[in-house]
Amino acid sequence: MVKRSLEKDMAADQVDRKGFRLIVDCDRCSGPAVQRHFESAHSGSVNQYSITNCGNCGYHHCDLDTCHRCDGE
Ligand SMILES: [Zn+2]
Ligand SMILES: [Zn+2]
Repeated sequence: MVKRSLEKDMAADQVDRKGFRLIVDCDRCSGPAVQRHFESAHSGSVNQYSITNCGNCGYHHCDLDTCHRCDGE
């Protein structure tokens, strides 16, 4: 299982005060992936974003306007 990498991830995320996180099934490997939701304010309007990262297979998905990881795939 992938418990180890997930626990490391959570510890790092405790400094993150905005947003919340969920454990979801990875789209690629069906393992536990971490999905983060947060808001980002840009020029007066607030946008909702989500980022999914799987520590098991390395799957990444997000809906950021610009993401070097999504663009690179
Ligand atoms: Zn995965
Ligand atoms: Zn991305």
